[in-house]
Amino acid sequence: MKFVRAEYEGEAFYAILEGDSVKRLAHAPYDSVEDDGRVYSVRSVKLLPPAEPTKIVAVGKNYKAHADEMGEGRPEEPLLFIKPSTSIVGDGDDVVYPAISHRLDYEGELGVVIGKKCHAAEPGTARDYIFGYTCLNDVTARDIQKAVSQWTRGKGFDTFCPIGPHIETEIDPTHSVIETRVNGEVRQHSTIDCMTHDVDKLVCYISECMTLLPGDIIATGTPEGVGPMQRGDVVEVEIEGIGILHNRIV
Ligand code: MG
Repeated sequence: MKFVRAEYEGEAFYAILEGDSVKRLAHAPYDSVEDDGRVYSVRSVKLLPPAEPTKIVAVGKNYKAHADEMGEGRPEEPLLFIKPSTSIVGDGDDVVYPAISHRLDYEGELGVVIGKKCHAAEPGTARDYIFGYTCLNDVTARDIQKAVSQWTRGKGFDTFCPIGPHIETEIDPTHSVIETRVNGEVRQHSTIDCMTHDVDKLVCYISECMTLLPGDIIATGTPEGVGPMQRGDVVEVEIEGIGILHNRIV
C-alpha cells in the first residue's frame, strides 16, 4: 500500500493513496490502520511529507563507488550522522539554496521508515521494525560540509531532506534501481544491493545506540555520481517499485 499525509481544509492527516483517491485514516498507521470513512480526490488535497520523524539517521559513504569518488576511504563501520526533523519537506516542495553556500549537491537515497519502537534489534529482525520505504534526497551544502569535521551544518538546513512521494509498504527494495535526475538528465544510476551495509545491518547498528521510533527515517546512503544543483533545477529521485520524488531548487 501507499501511505501519505495530506491536508484538506486546514487539517492534516495520514491516508492511503489508491489511484486518484486519498482515503483518510483516523491516526498514524504504525500501530494499526483505521480508515475513518472520508475519501478525497488526490487533486483536492495538498500532499505533505509522508512521515513525521523525530530524527533522520543518515549513513555516509555506504556505497563503495561513492566512497571512492569522495576520495577519503571506505569506512568499515556505518558512518552515522543526524539530519534534523526540520529539514523534512515533501514531494513537490521547494529546496532552498542557502545564501551562504556556493555548492549544493543532490544525494539520492533509499529512505527506510520505522514502524515500531526499536531498541537493540537482533540481526535478521529488521523487517519487524520497518513500516515501509520512500525516496529521499540527502541535500548537502558540500562547501559547508567540507569546511568543518562535523557534517550537521552542511546537511542540516531547512528543506534539506525531501522525502516521498509516499511510503510504499509492499516492496522489498533490495534489488531495486535507484536513479537521480537533474532536469531530466540522469546523474546517479545504481541498485540498492550495491550498499556496503544493508538495511538489516543498519537497523541493528543504529538501534544498538539510539532507540528508533515510529516515523523515524534511516537515510541509507547515496551511490556514486553526486553533483551540484543550481537554482531553478528540478531534481528527481526515483526508486524502482516506490515512485518518483521531485523538488525544485529555489
Ligand atoms: Mg547521503
